[in-house]
Amino acid sequence: MGVEVDIRRVMRWAIVAGAVWLVLYAVLTGLSQGSEAMARFVGNVVYVVPLVLLAPLSVMAARRSRGRLRTAWWLLAVSNLLWLVGELIWSAYAFTRPGGAPSPSIADIAYIGSYAVALPGIVIGFGGTWAERQVRCMVDSALVTLGIGAVGWALVVGPLMPGTTTAGAIVTFAQPLFAITIVTALVAVGLCGHRTIPPSFLLAGAGFAVAGITDAVYAYLFMVHSYDDASWLNLGWQVEAVLLCLAAAAAALRTEPEPEVRSLDRDVAVLPAAVAVLSIVGIAIADRLTEGHLARSTLVIAVLLASGLLLRQVLVTRDRTRLAEALATALREQERLAVTDGLTGLYNRRFFQEMLRLDAERAEQNSAPISIVIIDLDRFKKINDSCGHPTGDRVLVEAADRIRRAVRPADLVARYGGEEFVCLLPGAGEDTAMEVAERVRRALSRTPLVVPSGREVRLTASLGVASAGTRGGRPHGDLEGLIQDADGALYRAKARGRDQVVAAGRLADLALDTDPDLPSALVWLADQIDAKLGNHEHSTAVSRWALLTGARLGLHQAELRRTAAAARLHDIGKINVDDAILTKPGRLSQEEWDVLRRHPQEGARLLTELSDRADLAPLVGAHHERYDGAGYPTGLRGDGIPIEARIIAVCDSWAAMRADRAYASALSEAEARHQIERGRGSQFDPAVADAFLALLDEGAIDELAPLRHTDAATTPR
Ligand code: GH3
Ligand code: MG
Ligand code: MG
Repeated sequence: MGVEVDIRRVMRWAIVAGAVWLVLYAVLTGLSQGSEAMARFVGNVVYVVPLVLLAPLSVMAARRSRGRLRTAWWLLAVSNLLWLVGELIWSAYAFTRPGGAPSPSIADIAYIGSYAVALPGIVIGFGGTWAERQVRCMVDSALVTLGIGAVGWALVVGPLMPGTTTAGAIVTFAQPLFAITIVTALVAVGLCGHRTIPPSFLLAGAGFAVAGITDAVYAYLFMVHSYDDASWLNLGWQVEAVLLCLAAAAAALRTEPEPEVRSLDRDVAVLPAAVAVLSIVGIAIADRLTEGHLARSTLVIAVLLASGLLLRQVLVTRDRTRLAEALATALREQERLAVTDGLTGLYNRRFFQEMLRLDAERAEQNSAPISIVIIDLDRFKKINDSCGHPTGDRVLVEAADRIRRAVRPADLVARYGGEEFVCLLPGAGEDTAMEVAERVRRALSRTPLVVPSGREVRLTASLGVASAGTRGGRPHGDLEGLIQDADGALYRAKARGRDQVVAAGRLADLALDTDPDLPSALVWLADQIDAKLGNHEHSTAVSRWALLTGARLGLHQAELRRTAAAARLHDIGKINVDDAILTKPGRLSQEEWDVLRRHPQEGARLLTELSDRADLAPLVGAHHERYDGAGYPTGLRGDGIPIEARIIAVCDSWAAMRADRAYASALSEAEARHQIERGRGSQFDPAVADAFLALLDEGAIDELAPLRHTDAATTPR
């Protein structure tokens, strides 16, 4: 901030100094009227002072500037240096040649060179970044210059020099035209293409405007032979020099920011068009007055102006077309961004929902099924925690790629949430969807990911599959239900130990409790046991609830059948336990306990030896194992216990607690619930306990039916 104030102060002093200098020069010019020697000294020595200052100042400005402004200032520095050279040559002539510099002289070459370098300085350095805009600005300047030049020539040079046109007149006349070109170029590029114009360029522009007027007046005086060293006109060039000095000082004191280019610029078409039309009218009138008819040169100028306007129009149209294309591209990109996820490039959730709606409608019209698979990466938080969030992001990107490659070409993959993805499988029933989901699961887990630190990360996911428009699936219109089904299946995949696919598999589709492969003799045995244990059903209820619980956990149909069958037969081993032990009201002795605890193995043995359902033996054999490993007969723990047996354990306990038994009376539902909750994670698999309790909350776990006496004697079917 302090520096800023200093710069302002310096600039203020520079302006004061410039003003003082101009006043001084005016006084000296006044004093030199009538004194040729003094006039020569003032007009050729004092006159050069600000130009000597201007050259190094513009070099400093160029060195302090950046980017495009630097190019501009280097060219302006060369231009100012050429001006100085021109003036020095002029002064040398003044002191060495009677009558001063001839016309044209090499000084004129330096003057014109000075303008010729300043023009590209303005256009290249300051004319925006598009070549076409620069060309358009040149065309604008050329149109204005040509128009004004033609009028000036027709009205001033023509009448003053009828018939004769000297080289000196042309060179002299060219200088104000150059100044006009530069000023128009500055207007065209500065006002139209930019948001801001650096102060140094405003000052330089003002300098060139003053030069244009001064040069024009000089051209007139030159032609009427009335210019001399004491001319007040010199003051005009002094003003130009002071303004350019101030411009250079402004650029040298503070690095000016590169002016921002507008993509949609203001078009000053009116200015060149008006100048072109007015000048044609002007010279036509001049022709009429002087010659009585239109000169051929007027026609040439008119054609040139019209062509220039046409070219300009073409450039504007191209500029607008380019802008329209850029806008269209930006719009398409916006649309793409609106439906994709920034990290993975997959579609986003909103787009998935929209496509699900459309595809479900189409599937309904074609009576085709449609399925979805929700994928949730397992223990993803751990990856974030141990490798960092950025690595987590890379894992998400890789997972997205693997999923995309694993699905069918027509399937849609979207990012559903943080580390959740969803696939939309049009035309796929549950079986196809399971296949695709299984392929995705394997694609994710097959090879570990190598993260940037070099560590390998094993990636697995749990997947939930749900279908609509299939037998037992949701109707096409129930998309909310479809997503709920997939969510529920996913939840069960997590509960069952992750890295697996679970289908929503609706219960309605299952043949309940009617397993034709169940040996009727063993079913009869199960009923006998139930009748011995009390006056309420037991194995039938356990089987029913186990089926519900299994379905809730997403077991496949075959697994569900096995669960229901094993549940029905889980206690048949008790046939070898004495009735006295089974119905003993008090505590069992150690030996009695030992006998009772053999019933799971006995049941397994009966299944292996008396039937061809050996597949049920391990399930029945493990139904008294505990999740924490403290059960019997083998002390299996956790996932080591078959899921069917873990389900039976919960349902068996519930049935036992809810019925009057020889050693205890029935617990209320709340008390029994409390016991299941207490055993969650120790006696029972927590996922199974949760599923069972959820069913209980939903009213799906019904009451035990009282046993009619005949039940025990009947063999079902
Ligand atoms: P689970 O197996 O039960 O799914 O465990 P989880 O850790 O994957 O599940 P949870 O839902 O508790 O955690 C999901 C984590 O995913 C939490 C969050 O920090 C992380 N996550 C969500 N979005 C992003 C993301 O864009 N980038 C990264 N790096 N992590 C994310
Ligand atoms: Mg999650
Ligand atoms: Mg997760």
